[in-house]
Amino acid sequence: MRASRLLNRTLFDDPADAESASHRLLARGGFIRRIGSGIYAYSPMMWRTLRKVSQIVREEMDAAGGQELMLPIIQPMELWRESGRADGYLSAGIMFHLKDRKDAHLCLGPTHEEVITDFLRHTVDSYKQLPVTAYQIQNKYRDEFRPRFGLMRGREFIMKDAYSFDIDEAGLDVSYQAMRAAYIKIFERCGLTFVVVEADSGAIGGAASEEFMVTADTGEDALLTCSNCGYGANVERADSKLREGAPGGEPVEMHLESTPGITSVEMLTDFCKLPAARMIKTVLFEATYADGVKPVAVLIRGDQDVQPIKVTNALGCLDLVVASEQTVRSVTGAAPGYAGPVGIAAEVVVIADHSVEGMTNFLCGANQTDHHLLDVNFGRDVERPPLHDLRAAQPGDTCARCGTAELGGLRGIEVGHVFKLGRKYSEAMDATFTTKDGKRDTFVMGCYGIGVSRVAAAAVEQNHDDKGIVWPVPIAPYECVVIPMKMNDESVMQAAEKLYVELQRVGVEVVLDDRWGRPGPKMKDSELIGFPYRVICGRSLTDGNVEIERRADGTKELVPLAEAAGWLAERVEAERHGGVRTTS
Ligand code: ATP
Ligand code: MG
Repeated sequence: MRASRLLNRTLFDDPADAESASHRLLARGGFIRRIGSGIYAYSPMMWRTLRKVSQIVREEMDAAGGQELMLPIIQPMELWRESGRADGYLSAGIMFHLKDRKDAHLCLGPTHEEVITDFLRHTVDSYKQLPVTAYQIQNKYRDEFRPRFGLMRGREFIMKDAYSFDIDEAGLDVSYQAMRAAYIKIFERCGLTFVVVEADSGAIGGAASEEFMVTADTGEDALLTCSNCGYGANVERADSKLREGAPGGEPVEMHLESTPGITSVEMLTDFCKLPAARMIKTVLFEATYADGVKPVAVLIRGDQDVQPIKVTNALGCLDLVVASEQTVRSVTGAAPGYAGPVGIAAEVVVIADHSVEGMTNFLCGANQTDHHLLDVNFGRDVERPPLHDLRAAQPGDTCARCGTAELGGLRGIEVGHVFKLGRKYSEAMDATFTTKDGKRDTFVMGCYGIGVSRVAAAAVEQNHDDKGIVWPVPIAPYECVVIPMKMNDESVMQAAEKLYVELQRVGVEVVLDDRWGRPGPKMKDSELIGFPYRVICGRSLTDGNVEIERRADGTKELVPLAEAAGWLAERVEAERHGGVRTTS
């Protein structure tokens, strides 16, 4: 490709709304152009990268036995009513939906479990046609609460979604493991560093799921991993060994303590000279259900924190937010900071984390401004609440699996998610097949997503420096750029042209920067755009050499012009299949 013909425009300034490196650099490099909030046009170079990611995904899906198909983006809401997900998606506001001219309710697919289940129930009738895994690579639509970070969290984005159908759970295990293994190959082939962690199943549902996380300090997800046993989990789901509590002793009489202006566990520890583990924190939320909003109180030991996703799952609610000050005042009759289980309004749903189990003589809010209750006991002063795992595991906690090492914290970008769905959709949508013994049974399903456009953004987030992008070779838009340093020097131009033709002949994807102008801006552009290799045709040509620089580590080498194409072809080929880290 000649740069003079390339439909691309680099920008000098960062876009005003860019909060992350990938957003900033993809916009400045001309790869993406914001058309609306969370909606982007992909430039020809961006599209090349996205097609490369898609192609890697496609090859590994096919190798794992997947069959590519294409489902409609526009979906009848009836299917979502059938699966029981319509209310949840509509109330969360994540769904783009519309009425057609006949007043039928439609949505733009945020995901395709319903559509594929409908397709399968009309296409597969017998166990003999199973197992089957089908996938597509397509735009998805989600009206994200906060679209941001460019391609990282778009409202229109490209996803590969695959669905497996098996006759039983053992079959699902096999299909799931095949997809999981394919995912590992895919992200390795893209040249990314990633971890696989246990995950919350969220609105998709099902029994078990794992996420593929590209590690980056700016990642939106917090993860915990154990270097000893390999346990890894998203904090939304992570478990850890609960630290020792503080014994409260034999129950004594409950009494009211005056605690003026003392509203947090830290302040109470000082004021009452009591360890946080002797207190119970009461965190108030508002939970949305299909039939309305209910106030919820979550009790947890004072030295622990509540994990809201775990609360959402325990309640089975559609949405959960921290209670407003107005709600706090109305259910406690007190200012914020004094909520407690004793005497809280009867309408409040009270649940507790396992950490409060066995606690005696604890301190908690009194539902009275400037007051706490001390020596409170369950079963006597207040009803014993139902217990769940609602605790947020923290870095530094002991690993619950091996029980020895400390969990370390790191951040990641979720690029893939694999789920064991089981029979959730097939039961709800009556999707059945005939078994070996002539009965009807529901499909056992799995689903598997990869954010193709997010992979590209994550690659930039993980591979960049202060000059620009450092594309891993397998997904770089072009593998190298040739820059003639003197446009008015015929011998330089001839050498550059010759090399350009030669590189194409040996199959290296090359851009010739033949734009009229000085070399400075071209050098800057090439660094911003992140070509893995840069060939400088300049002064060294007097000795018959070109200078070839590797973007990732800045190493430079003088190579005879006549050998340059072969030299590059060899280097590029070695990096094309992934596994080579571009930056450390
Ligand atoms: P997140 O937690 O980041 O909102 P999710 O868990 O809702 O994502 P899934 O339903 O698991 O997403 O979708 C499969 C994959 O699609 C994700 O692993 C991610 O890579 C990608 N993805 C999801 N939402 C977006 C988005 N708004 N923009 C770009 N990619 C996305
Ligand atoms: Mg997910």
